[in-house]
Amino acid sequence: MLAIEALDDVTRVVMSTRTTRAIGYSVSAYLVRGVLVDLGFAAVGREVAAYLDHAQPRGVILTHHHEDHAGNVELAVRGGLPLAASDATLAALRAAPPLDTYRRITWGTPPRLVSAVRPFVCDALCLVPAPGHSHDHHVVWDAERETLFGGDLFLGIKVRIAHEGEDPRRLVASLRAAAALHPRRLFDAHRGLVRDPVDALLAKAEWMEETMHAIEARIHRGWSDRAITRDVLGREPLEHHVSRGKLSKINFVRAVRAGIHR
Ligand SMILES: [Zn+2]
Repeated sequence: MLAIEALDDVTRVVMSTRTTRAIGYSVSAYLVRGVLVDLGFAAVGREVAAYLDHAQPRGVILTHHHEDHAGNVELAVRGGLPLAASDATLAALRAAPPLDTYRRITWGTPPRLVSAVRPFVCDALCLVPAPGHSHDHHVVWDAERETLFGGDLFLGIKVRIAHEGEDPRRLVASLRAAAALHPRRLFDAHRGLVRDPVDALLAKAEWMEETMHAIEARIHRGWSDRAITRDVLGREPLEHHVSRGKLSKINFVRAVRAGIHR
């Protein structure tokens, strides 16, 4: 299902299925200046194709390679749309290792990017590196309108779960760099329009730093990852069981430990 919301000069395209709604998820793409930021997931591919036909964007920009943001990239590129994405994002989409079962069930299986990409040169919108959530994560910055399309940079202030491959220290640096742009508006790929974006980005950075310090202190005292998780982050949420541990609080602790040894 696609739900379209107009927010001044920005159109939010909220994508969900019965499965994603059942676990409380949707993901949004945004149409701005005739450009679509992100493409949603494969399970809504037919609806996305119809939307592209209707909206006729002049190009597409991808924030990162995750299947809920770039799941329809082959469809868009094969259809002739020019695309802007980082080299790392394109490399990940061309390699496309098989997804875990829960991710396939949630978002559908994205066809791998095989078609040749016609580069999109976005004039008023630029891709700014913002790694941490994933190695290839970028935000899209509209300097003239002081508007930030954050992809999965923000997601909420106190996000205690992490997937494998997150780097919390880099994420904190990216949050501070995004706040330093002084965005007037922030559009989050899951949360929609974020109020007081500079305060929200900095509050998240501060909460993450405090949490990482608490985790590091326990690591230095020799605690196990499991004990630290329970003490600092609390019980594992539903996602932990549904994803068989791929999305879990203990991953946050493991990422902090990995960072110490890096
Ligand atoms: Zn993501």
